[in-house]
Amino acid sequence: MKVLITGGAGFIGSHLAEEYLKAGHSVFVIDNLSTSTVENIRHLKESSEHSGRFHFYEDTIFNTEKLLDLVGICDVVYHLAAAVGVQYILDNPLSSLKTNIEGTEKILSLCNRFQKKVLIASTSEVYGNQTHAPLKETDGCTYGPSTKARWSYAASKLLDEFMALGYYRSKGLPVVIVRFFNTVGPKQTGRYGMVIPRFVKQALSGEPITVYGDGQQSRTFTHVNDAVTAIMKLMDNTEAEGEIVNIGGVEEVSILQLAEKVIEKTNSNSKIELIPYQEAYSEDFEDMLRRVPSTDKLNALTGYRPTQNLDAILQDVVDYFRSKG
Ligand code: UDP
Repeated sequence: MKVLITGGAGFIGSHLAEEYLKAGHSVFVIDNLSTSTVENIRHLKESSEHSGRFHFYEDTIFNTEKLLDLVGICDVVYHLAAAVGVQYILDNPLSSLKTNIEGTEKILSLCNRFQKKVLIASTSEVYGNQTHAPLKETDGCTYGPSTKARWSYAASKLLDEFMALGYYRSKGLPVVIVRFFNTVGPKQTGRYGMVIPRFVKQALSGEPITVYGDGQQSRTFTHVNDAVTAIMKLMDNTEAEGEIVNIGGVEEVSILQLAEKVIEKTNSNSKIELIPYQEAYSEDFEDMLRRVPSTDKLNALTGYRPTQNLDAILQDVVDYFRSKG
């Protein structure tokens, strides 16, 4: 099979590419390296094992000619290219919206032209300001005012979901929409704020662990390999077409507990420092207090259960940063 991955040099995309290559398929990646790096895929480019089966194009998803070629020759498409994360959107408000809205529309229309099955990456952010748990795919979404730019990320991804469902309902395009909750593992950078790589790097270098607010906000974490297994299973399942599915972990942990676990795992002398939200983020920002997915739908569709608990996830990230030195 030939698999096209937009954003395939990114954190999740590069792991996905590797799994398809290991399974003997051909992988085509298009990525403009805006928030990703060629280092994530260097081993795939250079491996003799995958030779001739891995193809990388450094380009944007707005290069219509290139995308026409790629969607035309590939059997399935994973659309992971996006402006990711609230902070990145706050820093690049207009270009991010264009990438997330126009970019996705473009991919959907090309997939429709060739009737290629496509998986659209959405995010737990679309639930907005919710404090109940677990969050189910049928739950409502609650946002603040449009004067607060932080909601534009959620709104842009929600629009992507509506568009994908529109193509499914009106044109019969086979689409699957996944909402990624916090996903972690090797190759994830802390540059865009992601908490686990940040805490692990701080702990390994003996710097203070920067817990925002009072640290009582909570999350669940999924190992990237589990997330990749889940989306590959959904792609293979015709019953997932036209569906929105949460991809996330099951073990809820407060950010303060997480900081303590990281210190313990790394035997670090780092101290925990509570940083008020006003100092950590711009005034446009508002943190989500709780974000816990229901994974019932994912489980019903794929039989999926996470294989790595928080302890194993942290160990893997610690090993990764230690090996990088
Ligand atoms: N966080 C923190 N210190 C950091 C980075 C993040 O306390 O150095 C908190 C952040 O405020 C949030 C949680 O960790 O409550 C998860 O943040 P991340 O950006 O990884 O993901 P998201 O907010 O999208 O769930």
